[in-house]
Amino acid sequence: MLLRPDVTPSEVDDACASAVESGLAAVTVWPADVPSAAAATGGSPVTVVAAVSGPDRTAAAYPMLDEARRAIQAGARHLAVALDPRAILGEDAAELARQLQALCRIAHAEGVHVRAVLQAPLALAAHTAAPQQAPLAPAVVGGGGLAWMRVGAPEASPSATELAEAGRLAVEAGADLLQTGFGVWGRATLEQVRAVRRALPSRHAAIGVIAGGAEDANAARHLLERAGADRVAVLDPSLYREQGVVLRTYKLGEADRIVVLLTQGEGKVRAVAKGVRKTKSRFGGRLEPFSHVDLSLYRGRELDIITQVEVVDPFRFLRDDYDRVVAGTAMLEAVDQVAQEREAAVRIFLLLVRALRALDGDPRDPAVVLDAFLLKLMALEGYRPVLAECAACGRHAELRAFSAVRGGALCASCRNGGESLLDPGTVPLLSHLLGEDLDQAAATQPRAAARREAANVVKSYVEYHLDRRLRSYPLVNR
Ligand SMILES: [Zn+2]
Repeated sequence: MLLRPDVTPSEVDDACASAVESGLAAVTVWPADVPSAAAATGGSPVTVVAAVSGPDRTAAAYPMLDEARRAIQAGARHLAVALDPRAILGEDAAELARQLQALCRIAHAEGVHVRAVLQAPLALAAHTAAPQQAPLAPAVVGGGGLAWMRVGAPEASPSATELAEAGRLAVEAGADLLQTGFGVWGRATLEQVRAVRRALPSRHAAIGVIAGGAEDANAARHLLERAGADRVAVLDPSLYREQGVVLRTYKLGEADRIVVLLTQGEGKVRAVAKGVRKTKSRFGGRLEPFSHVDLSLYRGRELDIITQVEVVDPFRFLRDDYDRVVAGTAMLEAVDQVAQEREAAVRIFLLLVRALRALDGDPRDPAVVLDAFLLKLMALEGYRPVLAECAACGRHAELRAFSAVRGGALCASCRNGGESLLDPGTVPLLSHLLGEDLDQAAATQPRAAARREAANVVKSYVEYHLDRRLRSYPLVNR
């Protein structure tokens, strides 16, 4: 269901193409998007469903019927019509049923099915309140200043009995399918789907609604197997939410920017922030490197599209200090190298956020925080250096050399000509930075010789395993 208030034509095209690819039964779009959805799904088994205005006692029926006719002409094979259970069971029942009957007659004459969606009609309104105060589902708050407004009382979620009764009236009026809702205000419960299923003759299909996302695969199975749903509808499956850290950005065209982020669930993500370079951009300065953000994204074919951003932590103090910015930049660069696209990176994400927080605090030496971070990052990637004993012979001797190739520190007898003799404090410092948490590293002020040698060891170790240079590392003040 592509019913976000601010859905764009290219998003409709992308989503329809992926619906065809993944074998979805149908896409539900606004009437205005029916022509492009019909074109994008043409020749495929994907049904185009138009979400047309439903019966409404305050409005004349004719505009509603005209809208339905136009949607059918443009290629819609189903009409989805919101039908408020509270209203159709109330005093306006006869009038609403009459309007629905008229709509069904028009649809059936063209071989088009009607889905009665048992919820209050959707209405769009300018979104002025802060998102957390607005009575809406956050996933459908558009970035363009539009949002869903609830019609009627916010708590007006119909009971199973009301759903079943409204469903029976809708079927009597001619509806072919019953759907529990548009998913805008949450997903269907087992009870709701069971009630709708019971209200239907067996030849009619019951559609349950889920919100989408990986954890909803189970919910979908439950609705199908345990509640008797014939189909499951997903609210805009391409829309997802993630927390991320901005790694870097670059320009795209006149006004846009591509933002590379490390996210928890999707790993590295490259996404477009549209219009971000205009002076009055709705993203403001929220998508700068280092920012820890909460995002809504739309999954595109090539690039994802950022629809909404809230800042979790801007790391303001980090940004005000040159040494911390340089150390932080080297962290972002290393993460950019190791993180994979579309591969969850929860531990790397948490490590990065902790390291940025340590830099944002008042570290004694930002370069030491960076080295601790890089050692921990290597350990997470499966390259934990051996520092407590000799990496070659395993003896707990004095360790005065280091070899990236041999995986860690070396004792005097295992050291050969290739490794230089290190200060006695260097390997213990490396071991401390790897083993202690980042706050400890931020409080550490090592002796100059050990600090310098440790930096060389870390740099060569990281570059050996990443198989490339860390460009920003030499800029770090040591
Ligand atoms: Zn040894």
